[in-house]
Amino acid sequence: MPSRPYTYYDFTVSLCPVCLKRVDAKIVFQDGGVYMLKRCPEHGSTKVLIADDIEYYKSIRNYNKPSETPLRFNTKTHFGCPYDCGLCQDHEQHSCLTVVEVTDRCNLTCPTCYAGSSPSFGRHRTLDEVKKMLDTIVENEGTPDVVQISGGEPTIHPQLFEILDYAKTLPIRHLMLNTNGIAIARDKQFAMRLASYAPGFEIYLQFDSLKRSVLETLRGANLTEIHREALETLNELNLATTLVVTLQKGLNDDTIGDVIAYALKQRCVRGVTFQPTQQAGRLENFQTQTNRITLTEVRRKILEQTTIFNSDDLIPVPCNPDALVMGYALKLGEDVIPLTRYINPAELLDKTRNTIVYEQDEQLREKMIGLFSTGNSTEAASEKLHELLCCLPLVSAPSLGYDNLFRIIIMQFVDAHNFDVRSIKKSCVHIVSKDYKIIPFETMNLLYRDSVANVPEENLEMKQPN
Ligand code: SF4
Repeated sequence: MPSRPYTYYDFTVSLCPVCLKRVDAKIVFQDGGVYMLKRCPEHGSTKVLIADDIEYYKSIRNYNKPSETPLRFNTKTHFGCPYDCGLCQDHEQHSCLTVVEVTDRCNLTCPTCYAGSSPSFGRHRTLDEVKKMLDTIVENEGTPDVVQISGGEPTIHPQLFEILDYAKTLPIRHLMLNTNGIAIARDKQFAMRLASYAPGFEIYLQFDSLKRSVLETLRGANLTEIHREALETLNELNLATTLVVTLQKGLNDDTIGDVIAYALKQRCVRGVTFQPTQQAGRLENFQTQTNRITLTEVRRKILEQTTIFNSDDLIPVPCNPDALVMGYALKLGEDVIPLTRYINPAELLDKTRNTIVYEQDEQLREKMIGLFSTGNSTEAASEKLHELLCCLPLVSAPSLGYDNLFRIIIMQFVDAHNFDVRSIKKSCVHIVSKDYKIIPFETMNLLYRDSVANVPEENLEMKQPN
């Protein structure tokens, strides 16, 4: 009998990468890879690699947990996903992390910028507008887990400190500032003022590479000295910092291990977040065929380029397992002890059996219990460890501080090429829009920015009216 060159696995709805209309899509396995096959009646067929690890891709479904919804939804479900953002009643996860873009402007004009920012683009949001955006998050979430003050470049907003003052009056559990680090590197007083917002405050520092050539390609500037100076100050202040790496295949995927090794040596750094480039906004120096990198490729490269983690240490995050991978380690003096492998994934599905499988090392087992529990019980320790398995970067353990944690995250934001309506409904990283809606990060950059004026008229008409 004739046969197909692939194994058919699943069916979903995606978008045409040209006109952004909804199109049917098949998920198939072929030659060790997971591909999305789709066809737009107008723009033809496309085949996109969405994962290079079939077993991992299949295992993602085992990490699903019951959906947690926001306290309220902001739009009606009417046109069909993703044209109803948001959040509409059809969304399946609350905002684990919400981004507030306080300005369109930036002190750089990076060739890679999903927001299309530059020194002259758009405007700063007024203080009242930003307050209303923050209030919107609190109305949706009650006690928001993580809020990121972002831009553009938020440090150039003339009322940044008034914004941070206001944010600190709200019941936000963890506040972050997304920055390219220029202001921190150049102005020690500015950095010291930022440090006064700790604890519960963290710098989310753009840090794509240690190499000048990579930074020039992605950022249009040699930021190596800026990074060095910013981290020197942040180390001095011990101000919690996450390094954020935008990844492109063939550009900086060979130095993932170097960035992790460097991060582990910095006193202030609590982890590294790797983000494969989302094809959205301003994107120069990028070829779809050669520069796209998938989440599973990044995961594999972390395992190949570091000695700390094994495959049990980098697992899907139950909030949104398609898009997020996490791995935790403990920094205890000079020692770096991988942690995630001691959480039994099966327990994620059965919270009533609160035990940890310490299958390897009895000594380490004792140490973990001592660190994570108030009594000598695996149950208490297990509960604390399970708290790590969500997007909130906190841990409560009597003899540990946030200083002791080192977290690896891979955060893949789908674009029109690999868009999957099944997984987008679990998106938990959101942006509060300037018209006070909460929109998934992915669909915001694809469909809902002012700058997405190149979307065909008939498709714009399909979007939720403001
Ligand atoms: S992505 Fe979520 S909020 Fe947007 S239309 Fe789909 S279900 Fe609704």
